[in-house]
Amino acid sequence: MRRKLVVGNWKMNGRIAQNQALLEALKVGVKDLKHADFVVCVPYPYIAQAQSLLQGSNVAWGAQNLCANENVALTGAVSAYMLTDYGCRYVIVGHSERRIQFHETDDTAATRFDAAEKAGLTPIFCMGESADERESDWTEYVVGRQLDSIIRRFGAAVLSKAVLAYEPLWAVGTDIPATPEQAQKVHAFIRNRVARCDANIAKNVQILYGGSLNPSNAAALFAMPDIDGGLVGRSSLEVNSFVEICKAANQECVTA
Ligand code: PEP
Repeated sequence: MRRKLVVGNWKMNGRIAQNQALLEALKVGVKDLKHADFVVCVPYPYIAQAQSLLQGSNVAWGAQNLCANENVALTGAVSAYMLTDYGCRYVIVGHSERRIQFHETDDTAATRFDAAEKAGLTPIFCMGESADERESDWTEYVVGRQLDSIIRRFGAAVLSKAVLAYEPLWAVGTDIPATPEQAQKVHAFIRNRVARCDANIAKNVQILYGGSLNPSNAAALFAMPDIDGGLVGRSSLEVNSFVEICKAANQECVTA
């Protein structure tokens, strides 16, 4: 059975004092939750702080992006090995905010995905359609194209060391979450597309849902057969909300 995974994406939020309070409370809040896994992806400057506060706990830490290159003249860039030096296990790749505001493409996201895996990081690969694309019935075309950008280039086997995340753009940061049925339909589509290449990898790959997840909708989303947890933005900044979401994931694994 696939374990549930809940990943907090802090985006460009945090200050040293408030991070400390949040991470210490988070550690306490999830310490007895043994059936699911938890991660926080923090801004680069706070990765060392996350490492020092979280090591030895059941919360892992990671980054929100990486550069695919190593040791070259690229001002402002951070490589995969710099992340592993600070104990990161996960890195978000291809988030819609990176694709839209930083002009990342399917191709550059795939290159980052590969660099992450080669360094031993688990990429959390984000896919999702815009509101216009959904209205035009292009959801499967867009999500399929994004997924294929990995599979065509590297083969489906690389997904055995990755996490996938369906994050419809119209749900991210909007307070309009996908319904469990809407999300499940796309998650099943993703899993079936992976299964066309490798049934075993499809059975095991974790597919997270992201987009306005909160304590009141988490349990219903996590109860869906192909939703293996969540990628959480705003609700990961408020420790009680994030802990509630983690509890919902843990509970779903206990009762399933
Ligand atoms: C995200 O950006 O990954 C996200 C899911 O944001 P929010 O939970 O705030 O919608």
